[in-house]
Amino acid sequence: MKKFAALLLAMLMVLGSVSAMAMTAGTYEAAAKGFHGDIKIAVTVDAEKITAIEVLEQSETEGIGTVALEKLPAAVVEAQTIAVDAIGGATISSEAFKAALTDALTQAGADMDKFTAAAAAAELVEETLETDIVVIGGGAAGLTAGVKALQGGAKVILLEKTAMTGGASATAGGSTKAIGSKWAIESGATDTPEDFIAAITKNGHGKNDPATVKNFAYNMGAAFDWIVAEDGGAVPYKKSDKPSTAFGGEGRGAGIVKSLTEKFESEGGVLMVGTPGTELIVDNGAVVGVKAEGNGKAYTINAKKVILATGGYGANKDLVPDEYEKFVYAGHAGATGDAIKMVEPLNADLINMEMINTQPNSMIKPSGLGQYCNPGVSKAYAAGGFMVNQDGVRFVNEVTNAWDIMQEMKKNDFQFLVMDQAAFDGFNAGMTGSAIYSMEDVAEWLKDDYAGQPVLKTAATLEELAAKLNVPADAVVAAAAKFNEVAATEGTDEFGRTIKVAQSAEGPFYAMQMHIRYYASLGGLHVNDDMQVLNANQEAIPNLYAAGEVIGGHQGDVYMASCLFGYAVFSGHHAAVAAVAAMN
Ligand SMILES: Cc1cc2nc3c(=O)[nH]c(=O)nc-3n(C[C@H](O)[C@H](O)[C@H](O)COP(=O)(O)OP(=O)(O)OC[C@H]3O[C@@H](n4cnc5c(N)ncnc54)[C@H](O)[C@@H]3O)c2cc1C
Repeated sequence: MKKFAALLLAMLMVLGSVSAMAMTAGTYEAAAKGFHGDIKIAVTVDAEKITAIEVLEQSETEGIGTVALEKLPAAVVEAQTIAVDAIGGATISSEAFKAALTDALTQAGADMDKFTAAAAAAELVEETLETDIVVIGGGAAGLTAGVKALQGGAKVILLEKTAMTGGASATAGGSTKAIGSKWAIESGATDTPEDFIAAITKNGHGKNDPATVKNFAYNMGAAFDWIVAEDGGAVPYKKSDKPSTAFGGEGRGAGIVKSLTEKFESEGGVLMVGTPGTELIVDNGAVVGVKAEGNGKAYTINAKKVILATGGYGANKDLVPDEYEKFVYAGHAGATGDAIKMVEPLNADLINMEMINTQPNSMIKPSGLGQYCNPGVSKAYAAGGFMVNQDGVRFVNEVTNAWDIMQEMKKNDFQFLVMDQAAFDGFNAGMTGSAIYSMEDVAEWLKDDYAGQPVLKTAATLEELAAKLNVPADAVVAAAAKFNEVAATEGTDEFGRTIKVAQSAEGPFYAMQMHIRYYASLGGLHVNDDMQVLNANQEAIPNLYAAGEVIGGHQGDVYMASCLFGYAVFSGHHAAVAAVAAMN
C-alpha cells in the first residue's frame, strides 16, 4: 500500500510538472518594437519545446540588427531558453526579439520560468593558436590594420567580441579626413599638414597631444591613398568635384566596414567573431599574445605583435566621468574600453580620459539611445523655432556653433525646442528625409497618453503647451512675443541671433525635448609615432600597438568633423606598417 502511494505520488508529481510546462502546440505570432520599427515573429511549439522561430517582418539596420535576427532564432531553439546572450552591438533588436518571443510563448501557455532560465554553461575547450599579429577589435581601425598587415605578409587573426564586425564605425557617416592624399590634391584642396595641426588644435581647445596630432597630420594622406587603391584596401570611396580634404564611402561607415571585412577575409585573414580578447599574455614585460574566449573555446593565441583596436569607452559607466550622467549615450554598446583594462598590469600611460565627445541638438529615441537632430533643427530654426529652458526663457543663439550651444545647455535642467506648425513641418521634413523616424512615429509620440521617449507635446496655445512642459506659461508667451518683435525688423536678438521668420501667433504649437548626447570617447592610450603603446615612463611596451578610438589625445576635448573616422583609418594603417616592419 505504501509502495502504491509512493508510486501514485511520483506519477502525480510527473503529471503536475508536465502540466505546468505543457504548451498548446501550434504557431503563435507576436511583435515588439525594434530599432526602426516592429519586429514580427512566428514561434512554433509542441507541448514542451520551441521547434521553430521565423522572423516575419523587420526593418532593422542592415548588418547590425539583421545579424541579431539571423542568429537569435537558432540560438533560442538550440538552448530552449530566452536567456541567450543578446547580440552585442544590436542590443535593441535583440531585446525586441526576446520581447516578441516572450509574448508568443505566453500565448502558447509556456512555463516562463523554464524558458527564461539560463542555459547551462558548457565547459570551455582549451585551444592554442600561433600567428604573427593579433588585432583585437573589428571596427574601421582594426580592419584597416588587419588588411594592411596581411598585405605586408603577416599572418593575422582578428578578434571581434560581438557577432559582427563594425563597432561604432558601422554606425558613423564614415567621412574620412585625408589631407595630403592624392584625391584631396586632385580636388584642388590646398590645406597643408601644418594648417590641419592648427585647425584641430584650435577645435580641441589645445587639449590635444601634439605628437599624436602631428603624426596624424603628416601620415593620413598615405593611409587614404592606400585605402582607395585597388591593390590596397580597395574600399569604394566617392571623389569630390569641389576642393575637399575628406571623403565619404559607399554605404557610409557600414559600407566601408563591410568592404574591409570582405577584403580581410579574401586576403586570408582569420576573423573570429563572438570572441572577445580578455587578457594580454605578457612575458618579461613584453606582450607575446592574447587570451580570448568564444564559441565554446578558451584560446591562447601566441603572437609576435598585438594591435589593440577595441574602440572607445563611452558605454562603460566606470570610465565615463559622472558629469556625463545627465546626457544621453548615442554610441556603440561594444565601446566598453576593454583595452584600458587589459593594459592595467603594464602600467600603460592614459591621456585625456575625462574627455568624451558631446553634441547638442539631440532627442532620445524610444530605444533610449541619443539621436542627432541636426537635419531637423536646422529647418525648424529657419522657420522660426526657438528653445526655452526650465524657466520658460530662451538662453542661447540657437543657430550658433555646436560648442557654444552646448555650453549654455549644460547650465539648464532641461530644454525644449518650441515650434509652430511651419517649424514643426520643417523639423519633420529634415528628420524623415534622413530616415531618422517616420510620421507614424510622430503620431504615436504626440498621443496624450504617450509616456516614453522622445518627449514631444502639442497644444492649441502656448499657455497650454507650457503647462504640458511644466514650465512657466507667462515666460514662454513673453519669449515668443520678444522673438517675434525682433523678427518684425529682421533684427538681431540679445544672444546674437538674426531672426528673419517670426513664429505664428496661431496654434497648434509643438515642443520636443532637446538633449546633449555623448558617444565617442576622446581619451585613451598614449602612443608614440609608430603607434606603440607607451607606459607611464613614456617607454614603448614591447610588441604592443594601438589604433583608433582606443587612443587618446588626437582630438582634444571635441572631435573635428571626419577626424575620428580619419584617425581610425590612418592609425590602423600606420600601426600595421610599423608592426610588420618590426616583426621581420
Ligand atoms: C553614431 C556615431 C556617429 C559618428 N559620426 C562620426 C563622424 O561623422 N565623423 C567621424 O570622424 N567620426 C564619427 N564617429 C566616431 C567614429 O566613427 C569612431 O571614432 C571610429 O569609427 C572608431 O573606430 P574604431 O575602429 O577605433 O572603433 P569601433 O569602430 O568602435 O570598433 C571597435 C570594435 O572593437 C570591438 N571590441 C571591443 N572590445 C573588444 C574585445 N575585448 N575583444 C574583441 N573585440 C572588441 C567592438 O565590439 C568594436 O566592434 C561617430 C561615432 C558614432 C557612434
